[in-house]
Amino acid sequence: METEKITDGKVVTLSYVLTADGEEVARTEDGDPLEYLHGAEDILPGLESALEGKTVGDKFAVTLAPEDAYGDYDEDDIEEVSKSDIPNVEELELGMMVEVEDEDGYQYMAYVAEIDDDVVVLDFNHPLAGKTLTYEGAIIAVRQATEEELDHGHAHGEWNGFEYEDEGEDEE
Ligand code: ZN
Repeated sequence: METEKITDGKVVTLSYVLTADGEEVARTEDGDPLEYLHGAEDILPGLESALEGKTVGDKFAVTLAPEDAYGDYDEDDIEEVSKSDIPNVEELELGMMVEVEDEDGYQYMAYVAEIDDDVVVLDFNHPLAGKTLTYEGAIIAVRQATEEELDHGHAHGEWNGFEYEDEGEDEE
């Protein structure tokens, strides 16, 4: 694996620190790096293209404008909901993520942006929308993906940075 370069179809193991508008929001723990399948759009495309061609031991620092990350913040993507329409409203806390179902049964994640006397303000923007992201880290390993990984479009590694839900059609 020493000189494998990152190209489509490689499984990449890396560590990183993510900052949003200069504030740290995530980092991989020692011994629990991120593993992803390159070229499968498992990570942000801007990050993926910046990692292309890198190899084990390389460091990276990638800055992505909102339009290359989670998009601009949309002021219209906010909704006021009457407290009487929310089951278990007393369990809501400012800043928590909640799952909201619309009348057609579609589920959305929202962020509790405000709690007033009568209403709760839900923000449906991605928590990182409108922010400039910087990923800084190092490449730990690069290997050829297995047939099964290519088939599934994600890495199946000894590392478990992400939990994937397999549909199961190709699993034993
Ligand atoms: Zn799978």
